[in-house]
Amino acid sequence: MAEKMAIHPAKKTTTKAALKATRSVSKKGASPIANNDVYVSVVIPVYNEEACLESLYQRLTSVMDNVGKPYEILFTNDGSKDQTSEILRDFHDRRPHQIRVIEFNGNFGQHMAIMAAFERVRGQIIVNMDADMQNPPEEIPKLLAAFEAGHDYVGSYRDGRDDSFLLRTLPSKFMNWLRSKATGIKIRDQGCMFRAYSRRIVDLIAQSAESSTFVTVLGYIYASNPIEIPVVHQARFEGESKYDIYKLVRVTFDLFTGFSMAPLQIFTVFGFLVSALSGLLVAYLIGRRLIIGPEAEGLFTLFSVLFFLVSVAITGIGIVGEYVGRIYQVVRHRPRFLIKEILEEKGE
Ligand code: UDP
Ligand code: MG
Repeated sequence: MAEKMAIHPAKKTTTKAALKATRSVSKKGASPIANNDVYVSVVIPVYNEEACLESLYQRLTSVMDNVGKPYEILFTNDGSKDQTSEILRDFHDRRPHQIRVIEFNGNFGQHMAIMAAFERVRGQIIVNMDADMQNPPEEIPKLLAAFEAGHDYVGSYRDGRDDSFLLRTLPSKFMNWLRSKATGIKIRDQGCMFRAYSRRIVDLIAQSAESSTFVTVLGYIYASNPIEIPVVHQARFEGESKYDIYKLVRVTFDLFTGFSMAPLQIFTVFGFLVSALSGLLVAYLIGRRLIIGPEAEGLFTLFSVLFFLVSVAITGIGIVGEYVGRIYQVVRHRPRFLIKEILEEKGE
């Protein structure tokens, strides 16, 4: 929900920039590429990554040029406040027929940024990666090789994770464990977005139209022959992580309520247990009242029991609220993200 609330009022593009975009789009529309010409689509969500982008561009294009198949790169600018937008525009100008840029009208979160690109990909294989190159672009051929060996979903797990242990690795290990217990989804490293999907899976993910959705998990559910391979993981060398502990907790909660009824069910079971126990307690107290007569001791025990039950009830309301919130988001039919502008050559 944190992501949803971050909807900013529409920012005005400067007329000059808008004019330039219109010009560049129409000018380049003259040399169209057919949809099925593209073999690989690389999808990259970008949020305040000005420091990483140039070297990402260099490394990614050289890797993809070497692969030797037609490809496209889709950047989604997720409402960055730095120079990201200008840099991406420049990338598009450098390779107009290969680089497409989706400009969001605010920050809608990494998963929505990926979703917007998934709705527009033209390739047969879709590779999703982060802009920070923690998973080096040089690993892409590995994913493609596994894909070509017949897998429609190539997941990855971080081989020798190079993040701060206490702040990132430990919490995400714990979240991974909790998630696989609650949702029954056995993905080894859910936080690693570096994955390849078949076009069929990506179309299904895009059709799912959920408001806060986990691309990796949805993809895994839709896959018929998934595989997970190890990929190199490096520390972020430019910029900083866009996730703090709070966002991580939020994201995990989203995951739980999005893919599992377990929180509701556990709560119901717990409610039954507590009612049974309090029933016994009441019977016992009535017995004492009848045998011993009125007594004032044990007042604090009673209070503690009461406080405990009240806190349980509040937690329950919170959990129900999470689900109601999700229903509300869907029922509202509001767009999951707003696109300000798309820089691309027209397909067909
Ligand atoms: N990102 C995004 N929107 C956000 C946060 C992150 O598009 O609100 C992008 C970010 O630019 C990066 C990717 O999502 O390409 C992963 O973010 P980050 O590297 O900060 O996450 P971490 O690797 O620390 O999990
Ligand atoms: Mg990262």
